[in-house]
Amino acid sequence: MKVLKWWSRELACREAVALFSDYIEGALPPRRKAAVERHLQACADCGRYLDQMRATIRVLGHLEPDDVPAPAMDELLEVFRRFHAEEEGGSG
Ligand SMILES: [Zn+2]
Repeated sequence: MKVLKWWSRELACREAVALFSDYIEGALPPRRKAAVERHLQACADCGRYLDQMRATIRVLGHLEPDDVPAPAMDELLEVFRRFHAEEEGGSG
């Protein structure tokens, strides 16, 4: 069984987040859609981010690339960085 390194998990999250707008619109090819769904099952934080995007679409009726909340993305990645820093067992 392959263990993902922290950096590859972060990259996977970036990729998943980048695919969310197409995912919500049902515009992804089946393999990509399955990859996003697999990621969502393993990653509650991305699930929350997806909910946020869905809520945005509900309000606006659609999602333009400019509407993707970049600060929320930074926040999300910060959560992962902290999570992985704790995993490494640092004392401070
Ligand atoms: Zn994720």
